[in-house]
Amino acid sequence: MIDLHCHLDGAITKDIAKKLASMQDIDVSNYTDEEFDNLISLDGDCSDLNEFLRCFEFPLSLLQTKESISAAVKLVQEHMKKQGILYLELRFAPQLHCQKGLSQEDVVLAALDGLEKDDLHTNLILCLMRGERTKAQISRNMETIELAEKYLVADEGIVAVDLAGDEFPYPTEMFAEEMKKIRGFNIPMTVHAGEAGSAENVRFAVENGIKRIGHGVRIADYPSIVDLVVKNGVTLEVCPTSNRQTRAVKNMDEYPIKKFLEAGVKVTLNTDDPAICRTDLQNELKYVKEKFGINEDDEKRMLLNSVDAAFTTAEFKAELREKIKILRG
Ligand SMILES: [Zn+2]
Repeated sequence: MIDLHCHLDGAITKDIAKKLASMQDIDVSNYTDEEFDNLISLDGDCSDLNEFLRCFEFPLSLLQTKESISAAVKLVQEHMKKQGILYLELRFAPQLHCQKGLSQEDVVLAALDGLEKDDLHTNLILCLMRGERTKAQISRNMETIELAEKYLVADEGIVAVDLAGDEFPYPTEMFAEEMKKIRGFNIPMTVHAGEAGSAENVRFAVENGIKRIGHGVRIADYPSIVDLVVKNGVTLEVCPTSNRQTRAVKNMDEYPIKKFLEAGVKVTLNTDDPAICRTDLQNELKYVKEKFGINEDDEKRMLLNSVDAAFTTAEFKAELREKIKILRG
């Protein structure tokens, strides 16, 4: 299994949160187990993406020191490795980890430090944030891009950038300035689009050369955008439980995963925020098999799509394909 779309702050399980809290002398003993669960994850579905985004507050509050960021990267890797993940792309927004005085560069270096201490093959993606176009916000995003450029490697480090945050009020085209700078630096990029906002956000991203889209499920009702995605060989990082919980798709019975595969869209299966969504890749797979008629062939196709779209080297992709062949035939 391969997870290309996993947020660090959304992957802080209860055990990891407790370890991070104790490292920082944060007392969480007054919470019952159930209260603690509810603090860091969602029991059911929520009314919109914003309610979902609020679940990040507590995990994020634990990720404001160099030591806790390094430890979190390491612990999330360990946790994912135990679940049989072969390759992981873990993303985070450095600007969200500066509440206690760290610079974005401190955050990036701390995450890289955590990465070196574990052996699950993992790459990091730096997220820019959607938000009001204030000078400060633009400059935070530009700083993230400059850090990505500074630390960019082909593998085992920072390999790409992403655009995350509240999509509905802040369409992708508002971030054209950032996207231009990213293109100028030739940094690989994925963009959250067609999740909580319009399918047009996917069109804009694809027309601007983006080859990977986070979610993209809202293009299902727009055949011309589905065509555009297919023609451009764009990969969708689909995250079913997260999409259900945030109501990215109005009617989950019509979740378009099978439809996309049949149309030739390069679909990949991912968790988004495994701890917040109380899921893992096995569970996502089970869900799409039981609910949406995904079969063994689809499963293998999605896995190979993940290899093709991974932000890593051709050599490592060949290694992954070989492993998949041995495991799955
Ligand atoms: Zn996401």
